[in-house]
Amino acid sequence: MGTIDKHIFEQAGARGCSNSDYNLAITTCCKSYIVEDDELNDVYFDPKDVSKVLDLTSLEKCPICSKDDWDYNIFDEWPRDETPWSWAYHPNRSIVENWIKKKTTPSSQ
Ligand SMILES: [Zn+2]
Repeated sequence: MGTIDKHIFEQAGARGCSNSDYNLAITTCCKSYIVEDDELNDVYFDPKDVSKVLDLTSLEKCPICSKDDWDYNIFDEWPRDETPWSWAYHPNRSIVENWIKKKTTPSSQ
């Protein structure tokens, strides 16, 4: 399951198919947050307009800064900071946040 909520994201206009999972990612070149569809190899780069979508397989430049040699890293869990994509996080986010909090709180308390 992706870090982005499929239902919310598709209601907002994402074009994914029934097998699509959406993952929050960050570009290595300009540290911009993007969302990838790991089924269709699509990348969403505008959190205010998810109808803007690009096909990864034909995308040679970073959609944000246009760098030629670009890449991105997928988040396994939600970053603790707010991102422009926070509106589309999975509803179970609070569970994950509690889990992160427990992991980082000293056990003596
Ligand atoms: Zn970039």
